[in-house]
Amino acid sequence: MQQDFIENLVGEPLIDIYEKVMDGKRLSYNDGLKLYHSNNLTAIGFLANIIREQKHHQNTYFVRNQHINYTNICNKFCKFCGFYAKKGGPKPYEMSLEKIRSVVKKYINYPLTEIHIVGGVNPRLSYNYYLDMLRMIKEIRPDVHIKAFTAVEIVEIARVGKVSIENALKDLIEAGLDSLPGGGIEVLSKRVHQELFQKKLDGDGWLDVARTAAKIGLKQYATMLYGHIETAEERIEHLIQLRELQDETNHFLCMTPLSFHPEGTELSHISTLTGYDDLKNIAISRLMLDNFDHIKSFWIMNTPEITQMSLWYGADDADGLVQDYEITYITGDYGNKKQFLTYDNMTRMIREANRNPIERDSLYREINRGENNSNIRTKAMKRLHVIK
Ligand code: SF4
Repeated sequence: MQQDFIENLVGEPLIDIYEKVMDGKRLSYNDGLKLYHSNNLTAIGFLANIIREQKHHQNTYFVRNQHINYTNICNKFCKFCGFYAKKGGPKPYEMSLEKIRSVVKKYINYPLTEIHIVGGVNPRLSYNYYLDMLRMIKEIRPDVHIKAFTAVEIVEIARVGKVSIENALKDLIEAGLDSLPGGGIEVLSKRVHQELFQKKLDGDGWLDVARTAAKIGLKQYATMLYGHIETAEERIEHLIQLRELQDETNHFLCMTPLSFHPEGTELSHISTLTGYDDLKNIAISRLMLDNFDHIKSFWIMNTPEITQMSLWYGADDADGLVQDYEITYITGDYGNKKQFLTYDNMTRMIREANRNPIERDSLYREINRGENNSNIRTKAMKRLHVIK
């Protein structure tokens, strides 16, 4: 009876994938393609949820974090990017160390555990700018975990410092760097690199930074930007390359599929993605990346509502409360609005989805604040996401 129900739910085309999932077997390239070519989202979510619950039961993680996007001046001109300063787009800015000090101090009474720093590739910034930034933040908040600089920024930092990638990473670690964020490569595909971001680091360069980080014990996050010009085949190749690298290094903490937002980019003619696409990519990432502990749904890019749904489609991490994120805006209104969730909003969103909210640090260790889990920002909100 139960078997009949499952066969009806999953459907004949995906039943062999169901059997592999139940037997704990790794999915192949063809399995991944089959999932992308299926429109049975309920079945794909059901399969992903099996693995999600095997790994994490009802637990759903989130972090209290602040973002610092120190400059939007960039010489890479990626076609998918709406963040970098350009004519008719966002105005250029470059934060001085004093400005960074003030944005860190702004949240000094807020119990953050992570500061996430990324920016454009700005050739005017010196090697010491990056090192001093990290040292200063650690001086102000010694307990905070600094997750900073995508692979393309690391290459730039090494270039201006005239040092190897390894030595740049070692210097950054000494100054306060704790892990590397994902990003810096959107999809590991030569074709997409050539068409969308040819001035930026290519796949081999990205893999080199990742391997170097792993070699010196630096943890890293992984991402995939989907919904621009990439094909289903390229998405699967990307996921399999990440999986193989994780087999080799075991240094990735989490995978975040990132939903592409065409507004304000050179690809504004491309249709905006739907919740269907977001849930499908999260679920397929969960199914393909058997050696990744965590799959994150980044609510800034796919909305809190889809993130809430995604907790049944493979995601076990809802990212963070997020302060001062400038890269993408749900409304497409760049540079004018702040985006954050309160602690109460985040935990309510997770509980409403019948999952168990757990505050974590950047290394996925549970944080127990006892009675002090109160909301520091208590502003009443009509909707889950605050755009003010
Ligand atoms: S994605 Fe990064 S490297 Fe590319 S243009 Fe935007 S800021 Fe620059």
